[in-house]
Amino acid sequence: MPDDLLERLRRFKSDAFAAQRSLFRHLVDEGQRPLTLFIGCSDSRLVPYLLTGAGPGELFLVRNVGAFVPPHDQSQGFHGTAAAIEFAVLNLQVRRIIVCGHSHCGGIRALYGDVSPEAPHLACWLELGREAALPVAEPGPEVLRRTEQRAIVLQLERLMGYPMVRARVAARELTLHGWHYVIEDGEVHVFDVQRGAFVPASQSEHAGTGPYLPDPDDALDASGVPAA
Ligand SMILES: [Zn+2]
Repeated sequence: MPDDLLERLRRFKSDAFAAQRSLFRHLVDEGQRPLTLFIGCSDSRLVPYLLTGAGPGELFLVRNVGAFVPPHDQSQGFHGTAAAIEFAVLNLQVRRIIVCGHSHCGGIRALYGDVSPEAPHLACWLELGREAALPVAEPGPEVLRRTEQRAIVLQLERLMGYPMVRARVAARELTLHGWHYVIEDGEVHVFDVQRGAFVPASQSEHAGTGPYLPDPDDALDASGVPAA
């Protein structure tokens, strides 16, 4: 049986790597300085590099079921997504965070069904989208679409619970973007906080919310210390 994966690894080195060798060298010598933290669903049909046209060194990626953001709390555990958010904001000092969900999301669909008793971690994880679910037993396509979009906004709100995120958004050093990618249309709908709605990128004047408009009470500098 031919080893397809091995073939792909060899082709990467001879083709893609060869074409961008100097870029990879630069990224090794200078280190990575991505401006964007991209939190996306693990779904195989969501391809962040294709959507954004990004190349090596441009996206700090976190992917999980549903593109969910866990709360910033004191609970102990192996919080991979929370750790990545902290690292991206504090160490890499990214300038924007994108939360990207999508149409036909299995994680969102699972909010309306039973999860296998063999998957306790999945069942627990899905609770991060629970508030987005609508009170219907059998969701149709429109309900699922709305749930997907509501879940994205929910994660943006939860991101604002991270002190280092909230402080930088208030200081206008960081912007948050909610994206809903409709696979079959090739269209990303970006969340517009002013309109409280998702707008197709082809009709939008911006790539998403931009910074939440800070409350006067939120006049914090990036260190989290209230401004005088
Ligand atoms: Zn998904």
